[in-house]
Amino acid sequence: MNKHPGTENLVIIGSGPAGYTAAIYAARANLQPLLITGFTSGGIPGGQLMTTTFVENFPGFPDGVLGPELMDLMKAQATRWGTNLIESDVVSIDTEHRPFRVKTTESEIVTNSLIIATGASANRLGIINENEFWSKGISACAICDGATPQFRNEELAVVGGGDSACEEAVYLTKYGSKVHLIVRSKKLRASAAMIDRVNANPKIQIHWDSCVTQAAGTDWLESIKLSSPILKEINVKGLFYAIGHTPNTKFLNEQIAVNEKGYINCQSGRPETSIEGIFAAGDVADSEWRQGVTAAGSGCMAALAAERWLTEKSLAKPIVRDQVEPETSNIELKSSVEDTNENTFDFNSEWQKGSYALRKLYHESSKPILVIFTSRSCGPCHVLKPQLKRIMNELKGQVQGIEIDIDNDQDIAKQAGINGTPTVQLFKDKLLKKQWKGVKQRSEFKEEIEKLL
Ligand code: NDP
Repeated sequence: MNKHPGTENLVIIGSGPAGYTAAIYAARANLQPLLITGFTSGGIPGGQLMTTTFVENFPGFPDGVLGPELMDLMKAQATRWGTNLIESDVVSIDTEHRPFRVKTTESEIVTNSLIIATGASANRLGIINENEFWSKGISACAICDGATPQFRNEELAVVGGGDSACEEAVYLTKYGSKVHLIVRSKKLRASAAMIDRVNANPKIQIHWDSCVTQAAGTDWLESIKLSSPILKEINVKGLFYAIGHTPNTKFLNEQIAVNEKGYINCQSGRPETSIEGIFAAGDVADSEWRQGVTAAGSGCMAALAAERWLTEKSLAKPIVRDQVEPETSNIELKSSVEDTNENTFDFNSEWQKGSYALRKLYHESSKPILVIFTSRSCGPCHVLKPQLKRIMNELKGQVQGIEIDIDNDQDIAKQAGINGTPTVQLFKDKLLKKQWKGVKQRSEFKEEIEKLL
């Protein structure tokens, strides 16, 4: 196990709006925070906005901003000011000794103060056959998986009555022939604007007072059973859960006080937890408001409180910057690059996009080819793509990467049997050598590629 050299001023756990805003403030206070992004436990790096399409209520974006893009911007802002990032999951923290110890899957970090901003994870229903049809029709993220070919022009269902359920039902009408919104009570708890959109959409049918009890099908989901005033079965090819979240606090191992719902206990409007020097921000400490902008605001408060506390205790070790002004981030806002065509195709390029490049390299290249199937609003794809590009870079052209947007290249996605994004396929000499679904560690991909070199 690596010992991280030195003691950090401040470690921030979590990479949603709360974590990154805390990082921006702490970095600008010259505390050079270390932010642990999380990897697979508690969702994906970037948090819940990574699985949202357009965020229309975050101030400063009059026409809305894609959730994953907003998170890319926050991350770029945090790193621009000197935040260090570790892409890892936190396994446990030790609050008995000072400085505190934070154990990740790869290392142990020592820190004088901590901000917990680990958010909350999507709940599952636990219906009969849920595991059998998970990723084969059942999903907790319509925004990530909605564009997959199996859902096109089919009847789909969403469970829940909040903003997520309504947003997802409306989103899915882009792909499905009809969307059943299954609500366990007699009313929607979503915001009025969202309810208006649901009511105005002729492709959505609401089933009130209904609970899903069972999924059925053969290789793929074909129907669900509802217990409602009248027992009924509806034929759907997709079932999407939007039934709320559970705060990610397991790694705290009951060392910090939580409330009856499991959220970290803080005084209303304050970031201090039951342990001095440990602060909480965002959804992990907020069962009520749970908005991107409230999370960001609480991240700011947590960073200012941590800075004050470190100064009061004479524990702050501010960095001295070589340059007063940091370099600009140069982040590209455009989430999609143009597909490669006849004129732009390059036989030796490390990374290209679209079916033209795939066909050419598949038939003519003797190198391993890594194909990532993405969709524009897929947050996990945003996380994975830079990881894969890094591998291409490290392997110096010995492997070639191609991105296929399943919205643009539906036929290819269907042929390849893609049922969710991101999916990564590794080919060599026209043979499929390996397939991965979802975000995985970089080393997993690299190991398999190196076997083929
Ligand atoms: P919510 O907690 O608001 O809603 C959860 C929904 O799931 C409720 O309707 C609840 O029913 C239902 N539910 C819970 N458990 C079950 C179950 N076992 N079976 C059936 N139904 C169940 O969660 P959301 O994810 O929708 O929203 C979280 C927060 O994020 C909110 O603050 C929301 O405003 C915000 N948000 C905002 C968006 C936007 O503005 N664009 C988009 C998405 C989320 P019941 O009502 O009966 O309790």
